[in-house]
Amino acid sequence: MRLTHQQFRQLASKHGLAVTHQRQVVFEAVIASDGHHSPEAIYATVRRKIPSISLATVYNNLRLFIDCGLLREVTPHASTLRVDGNLEPHHHLVCSRCKSVQDITGDFVDFQRLARQVPGGFDLTQPLIEVFGLCARCNAKT
Ligand SMILES: [Zn+2]
Ligand SMILES: [Zn+2]
Repeated sequence: MRLTHQQFRQLASKHGLAVTHQRQVVFEAVIASDGHHSPEAIYATVRRKIPSISLATVYNNLRLFIDCGLLREVTPHASTLRVDGNLEPHHHLVCSRCKSVQDITGDFVDFQRLARQVPGGFDLTQPLIEVFGLCARCNAKT
């Protein structure tokens, strides 16, 4: 599930976020294509429409969108930011060589069982599984 432009405007205003032209262009750049985008990649797309925009502005807006739940952050513990426009519950296949991230869906994890194993007091707000391996392209090179 990706937000439509109308949902974006509604959700943003619910969070008190002014829907400026700049923010709309940044958001559109994220949802325009599937994948897990770095701020630099979004910046390159946005600059074609708004040449004066800075990377810092793009980055700050992506952070705001994540805080408001308009986007998801991929691997919040990683040192580089990647944003995900796919808000549907899903998991990630991460290539340990090229760091590419692919979506994988399916009920292969028993979250009720997982919840029973989790230490007391820990709230499973975003149960996300990351599976590491080699992507097809990297695998073909070995
Ligand atoms: Zn790879
Ligand atoms: Zn994803």
